[in-house]
Amino acid sequence: MSSCVFCFCAIIADKQYTMKNLKLKSDKYRKSRGGYSRFLDIYCDHCGQKVLLYQKDGPGELKRLYLDRISSPEKVTRSQHLPIKRVPDLVCSKCHSLLGVSYIYPKEKRPAFRLFAGAVKKKLIKG
Ligand SMILES: [Zn+2]
Repeated sequence: MSSCVFCFCAIIADKQYTMKNLKLKSDKYRKSRGGYSRFLDIYCDHCGQKVLLYQKDGPGELKRLYLDRISSPEKVTRSQHLPIKRVPDLVCSKCHSLLGVSYIYPKEKRPAFRLFAGAVKKKLIKG
């Protein structure tokens, strides 16, 4: 048995550990929305595929997804620091439906995905 097998196991275990210990981000954006936040699983409404994990701040409808509030997957979080023109639009990895387009939310000059109406479903994650 090679040591690589053990390394791989360690990586998986570490990932699960990280998932269980999600921390809500707290900053000026959260405070300006009343300080109330929770995690949502975002699903494609066309095929039911889980698209990403999102921290929603404050009450109200989910019209856009701020890039700095997306916790996973890495494919999406990796683009958080790219110039907005290089951030790919939000597409379902399974059925390839276009769910939202990347843009800068003008009011806060904050990179986000503008969601199409009815493109995604959300589910509250219970801690
Ligand atoms: Zn889909």
